[in-house]
Amino acid sequence: MSKPITDLIHHPYSPPEHFEAPQPGVFKASTVFFADVAAMRARDWKTKAGYTYGLHGTPTTFMLEERLAALEGGSECLLAPSGLAAVSLVSLALLKTGDELLLPDNVYGPNKALASGELANFGITHRLYDPMNPRDLAAKLSDKTRLVWIEAAGSVTMEFPDVPALARICREHGVVSALDNTWGAGLAFRPFDLEGEGEGVDVSVQALTKYPSGGGDVLMGSVITNDPALHLKIKLTHMRLGIGVGVDDVQAVMRSLPSMVLRYRAHDASARVLARWLAQRDEIAQVLHPALEGSPGHDNWRELCGADGLAAGLFSVVFDERYGTEQVDRFCDALELFRLGYSWGGPISLVVPYDIGLMRDPKVAPWPYKGTLVRFSVGLEAVEDLQADLEQGLSAL
Ligand SMILES: *Cc1c(COP(=O)(O)O)cnc(C)c1O
Repeated sequence: MSKPITDLIHHPYSPPEHFEAPQPGVFKASTVFFADVAAMRARDWKTKAGYTYGLHGTPTTFMLEERLAALEGGSECLLAPSGLAAVSLVSLALLKTGDELLLPDNVYGPNKALASGELANFGITHRLYDPMNPRDLAAKLSDKTRLVWIEAAGSVTMEFPDVPALARICREHGVVSALDNTWGAGLAFRPFDLEGEGEGVDVSVQALTKYPSGGGDVLMGSVITNDPALHLKIKLTHMRLGIGVGVDDVQAVMRSLPSMVLRYRAHDASARVLARWLAQRDEIAQVLHPALEGSPGHDNWRELCGADGLAAGLFSVVFDERYGTEQVDRFCDALELFRLGYSWGGPISLVVPYDIGLMRDPKVAPWPYKGTLVRFSVGLEAVEDLQADLEQGLSAL
């Protein structure tokens, strides 16, 4: 048996090198081979010049990294197994005991949880700033501050901050700024060139789980930089933590990327129709959608993304105070096309009621609305059907 088994494993057939097709091949590997020991010793895992080990990159992961960096206008990209893993990678790579981190009060919830959990355990302190008041950020920077997170629009409450001003304050103080760019997805604005070339944030993170995947079936995150030294710092932590992604998931994101701008525009257009319609309803006290006049930070959105700019498919509403939580829950339960579920960016519309009282610090940025908040992620269904669904849901209040 010995010869056939060995021949089976060392069979000389190898796949064609120049098989050209619209979608690139999927390359799976933990191990890659070297021609000789000298080649093995010479190979540097930190560059894309060659391959050393699956965890350090394959043609499949390198390709997605290159495309995402191009999309966002950065030079380098790292992939992580979820958006949250990308967020925590950045904080773990750039902070050490004694440092301080600043977070906007409306930051993605688990980013706050990481700060009060692991980061606090490591002796890293954090403070919250009012995302709508750049002076508050400036006042809270200290000689201990090493990293500032920025998010536009803020999670759930959708206020749109003055991103260029926040990034400028960080630049002027020599503090690294990291943007959670999941909402903008590299389409609504250019994170590295906010006020001219090279004048933007230092790091841009995305949950590829949302629009780049677009299917509600993949978890992945990206960390993009435009500075090789900063990239290397994060990459070393990425390597030491053993962070990697499955190439089938990479392939799924690659398959979705070409249609992303079309999907993003479609989500955006339907969301604006529904947000405007809800703004007219007397059950609703406030619509929170950056592209709608009267929404918090609308002027900042228009300044950054343009009056005809893009705005994703996500918005929230605050119900009139006369409706209690139970009634608003009934509204959410009555919806049929809008499914109850977290996340966003997929074809199916989603709805989640939130208790903002639990999410905001009244001492940092008081939340001005009393009613219950509901967030909608608008999918790709016909907008007339979605509006009819909302209408029948409102009648269940
Ligand atoms: C969803 C999301 C994340 C986390 O992404 P996961 O892939 O679900 O971990 C991070 N930031 C924002 C703004 C998000 O919406």
